[in-house]
Amino acid sequence: MSTRELMLCHGKMTFAQERKIRQTGCDARFDNLTRQLYSTDASIYQIHPVGAAFPKTAEQASLVIHATADAGLSITPRGAGTSLVGNAIGDGLIVDFSRYNRQITDLDLEKRSVRVGAGVVLDQLNEFLKPHGFCFGPDVATSSRATLGGMIANNSSGARCPIYGTTSDHVMSLKIVMADGRLEKIGASHESLVSERATIEKLVRAARTEMTERWPPGLIKRWPGYGIQRFLRVPNDLTNILAGSEGTLAAIFSAELKISPLPREKGLGLIFFASVAEAMQATVELVDLKPAAIEHIDRPLFDGTKGQLQFQAARDLLELDTKPCESILIVEFYEDVAERLSILQSKKIGLRTKIVSEQAQMNMVWSVRKSGLSLLTGCIGPAKPVAFIEDAAVRPAQLPEYVRGLQSIMKPLGLDASYYGHAASGLLHVRPVLDMHSPADLKKFRQVADETSALVRQFKGSLSAEHGVGIARTEYMRDQLGNQLLEVMREIKRAFDPKNVFNPGKIFADASEPDGHQHKIDNHLRENFTRPLELPFQPVLAFAFKDRSFTGNLEQCNGCGGCLKQSGIMCPTFIATHDEVMSTRGRANIIRAALELRLARNDGVARGGKMTAGKPSLLGDPLKSAELDAALSNCLSCKGCTPECPSNVNLALLKAEMLHARWRRDGLPLRERILSNVDLLGKLGCLMPRLTNRFLDFKPVRVAMEKTIGISRHRSLPQYANERFDKSFAKRLGSAGASPAVFGASPKTSVVAPKFEEPALLNVSREARDTAGEAPALPRRGKLILWDDTFVRYHEPHIGIAAVKVLEALGFEVALVKNRRCCGRPAFSQGNLDASAELANYNVKIVSSLQYSNPPILFLEPSCWSMFVEDYRELKIENAERIAERCFSFEKFVDDLLTREPEALRFKERVANVVIHPHCHAKSIANPEFMGKLAERLPGTKATVLDTACCGMAGAFGALAEKYDLSVQIAQRLLDQLDNQPSRTEVIASGTSCRHQITDLTNLRPKHMAEFLAEAL
Ligand SMILES: Cc1cc2nc3c(=O)[nH]c(=O)nc-3n(C[C@H](O)[C@H](O)[C@H](O)COP(=O)(O)OP(=O)(O)OC[C@H]3O[C@@H](n4cnc5c(N)ncnc54)[C@H](O)[C@@H]3O)c2cc1C
Ligand code: SF4
Ligand code: SF4
Repeated sequence: MSTRELMLCHGKMTFAQERKIRQTGCDARFDNLTRQLYSTDASIYQIHPVGAAFPKTAEQASLVIHATADAGLSITPRGAGTSLVGNAIGDGLIVDFSRYNRQITDLDLEKRSVRVGAGVVLDQLNEFLKPHGFCFGPDVATSSRATLGGMIANNSSGARCPIYGTTSDHVMSLKIVMADGRLEKIGASHESLVSERATIEKLVRAARTEMTERWPPGLIKRWPGYGIQRFLRVPNDLTNILAGSEGTLAAIFSAELKISPLPREKGLGLIFFASVAEAMQATVELVDLKPAAIEHIDRPLFDGTKGQLQFQAARDLLELDTKPCESILIVEFYEDVAERLSILQSKKIGLRTKIVSEQAQMNMVWSVRKSGLSLLTGCIGPAKPVAFIEDAAVRPAQLPEYVRGLQSIMKPLGLDASYYGHAASGLLHVRPVLDMHSPADLKKFRQVADETSALVRQFKGSLSAEHGVGIARTEYMRDQLGNQLLEVMREIKRAFDPKNVFNPGKIFADASEPDGHQHKIDNHLRENFTRPLELPFQPVLAFAFKDRSFTGNLEQCNGCGGCLKQSGIMCPTFIATHDEVMSTRGRANIIRAALELRLARNDGVARGGKMTAGKPSLLGDPLKSAELDAALSNCLSCKGCTPECPSNVNLALLKAEMLHARWRRDGLPLRERILSNVDLLGKLGCLMPRLTNRFLDFKPVRVAMEKTIGISRHRSLPQYANERFDKSFAKRLGSAGASPAVFGASPKTSVVAPKFEEPALLNVSREARDTAGEAPALPRRGKLILWDDTFVRYHEPHIGIAAVKVLEALGFEVALVKNRRCCGRPAFSQGNLDASAELANYNVKIVSSLQYSNPPILFLEPSCWSMFVEDYRELKIENAERIAERCFSFEKFVDDLLTREPEALRFKERVANVVIHPHCHAKSIANPEFMGKLAERLPGTKATVLDTACCGMAGAFGALAEKYDLSVQIAQRLLDQLDNQPSRTEVIASGTSCRHQITDLTNLRPKHMAEFLAEAL
């Protein structure tokens, strides 16, 4: 890190400057945590800002921008920070419009327009427009988090550019904040900024010939820099200049946008090729059919879907395993679909053609294409596909020759790359695979960039056709634009922003600060590239799913912002708060910052406990700091990121590893020790359950518990059962005169393989069936083990009893494991990995040593199931994989059996409306839709699987006093959905935490699926 950067990192700002900004009343933060969080975007670059501000109103934005400029600091406006080339980072104040500025107003269907705050996300807007039959046309692949402000500033576009054009084509007017704080409205119908407009008009007119020469027609996307060519066509409309200005001219507060009718029909033609070259050649011919999109994907991309559960259906649809190919064109039509698809088919291009018209199947194909970048960057190892020449476009007819040109750059350097992207727009997202930690590859990086810039010039193409110039391409702009057009752009910048306040040094180098803002492609690289991460501890986890290394998994986070979306299961804390540090990306960034010692031990903690700019401080503690706590302590370990982050960042593991390293060094605190031992507490509590329950309900006891170990007094505590499940299980068998119900061995005897004892619970069921007047059934399916987890055993035995009833009705002999220990989940969640591993080892040993033919092991609690099937492997437990193969969730096991044999159980009719909240760990392993099907096996039942993430309870998390409010905030998404159900709807939730949360926050009484099924037998 340069001295200058180090100063910035530790707060270059003076107290006077900070005071000035704070006095505006705008939420502004200058602490080290914020500076680290906003030092990266989705690019390979890193610059530390002095802080970040989050304006709520246009007036606040105006005040904060004015004060910052007045204080002599630069401003970088920001949306979701998904820019790929360093557009959204800067060394001054980041003004983040995505936090609060998310209002959608003034929908006018006649005029086909709508007004949006700059922080409105594209998917949010389209969801709002859909019921009205409209959409916003340009479709960036990051639609789940990209903001309209960012899209306008980058002049973004997507696959359907041939019909929708770019974002700029849909902007009617903008409300902007100038560097001096003035609020202005610009657009064709606004008479504002008269002198600026006149200046720009003159400049642009004078450059007309140069533009024609440099930018011949035929390019579908956009040219780099300000939209001067568009402005020439509509000279009174300054929105054309702002769109594509990458935050260098003014901040956009809100926008009036044109909206488009939703397509009436859609259809896809998939064409498979033996080579990329053939696909490029075919594109030239297909463009004449006027498709909405032609997208290209190639082998490196679709090979990335191998072995990924979520893409298996798409792989099957594309027949990738049975009919291999090198490249695929996805051709989409919006009008006269049948006719145009039949023409396409009759052309007999490539190896084969497949027509896809079903919406679900089309979605599957698009999901592969949309995940393109991440499927590539998610590869294992330090070499990754790098974005720096990924945005160049030529005319579609030039594609075959352009690709040959690129290959001739790459081949002598021995570089691999994928050539996927918007073929119909002549734009291929080519990302050479480079190890940015390696000096040799850094040389290649520069060479490829230099040569590609020259190649694009040769084709008179655009080096930056949708992602912007940012840092990566600024140094090439003189070559690309030529002196005259570059000078026009400089003059426009001077007219708008004479003091060079906004995002300085982007698009063109800033001559006024020779060493400051002269961005080069290989400057400001992320610190972990130039200074490889050194771990101050020895990781203990396997990271078995993918990277097999802590650092490898941490560095999978490329900043793409997928975890800032507002749906799915990643990341519930961000969904609830919109706070960057509450996202997976924020957490990964802070862990990296900690390991790079960018976390200050005493960073400006001053005056009323508020973080201030402070003095440059000492290097931080990699394992313990306020920043690290803010990032890690709020992670729910819900595993939502593992399957949904396209690069499979596994924050639950990273967090556990970091905590473990800390406890190893500093000792395990009392609270974490207690929370690791809930199974032991259960055992003790059940010795005298009535007394214990009364004692724990006693108010002074709760107050004392809150004060000493931080358990919130607002939380109910799980009640201890009068009779433990395992005891009642054994007793009932005993009373039936059978052999002991539990089997297994104590750890001492587990060396000698324990004898499997005949389980006799069958008698209990027989009694039950006798009472019901049915003929007794004999077990026909053999034995299985039911894992009586801590909660079923000590708190909710009725769930275990219900599960036994269902399983025996299916014809199984059910047995429990004698002397089983806690699965280790509570200890794992606390980072108490030694204890967790000890429990895991014990349990695997005891289960493996049963002298029996490997019975299936069923779990009622999803977090215990995920411990056995995933985290035992992560803890490197011997034989964990073998045991995992025998482990099933109760619901999945029963559903699979009933799918094979629908008549295996006869349920009574139950006219009920049921909603199911699946546990997040279960969701991270399997698609939960089957649970709806399972509930609907009860005649008369209508079931819906709720679209929810973690409930916010997450084991002990929601019970902690300091996390209570956040826990309730996270639960809101679930509570809202429950609130909208018809009265008397029944709720099924298989996680004990989820049931606890729902019970605490509503007057509902959720059930486990086992109870629901058992009641209908
Ligand atoms: C996986 C992946 C796929 C992508 N696919 C596409 C794609 O298909 N098409 C495409 O065009 N792009 C794509 N991008 C790039 C990026 O997502 C888009 O450019 C997106 O529109 C940026 O939006 P944002 O909210 O993240 O903006 P940011 O990245 O936060 O900012 C973008 C630029 O706009 C400026 N800015 C942000 N808000 C404002 C404001 N209110 N006022 C003034 N300036 C502002 C910033 O200073 C910055 O220069 C992709 C990126 C990734 C990581
Ligand atoms: S955690 Fe995953 S989804 Fe989030 S920014 Fe990092 S790579 Fe993207
Ligand atoms: S484990 Fe859950 S809460 Fe933590 S980062 Fe991942 S998705 Fe977010």
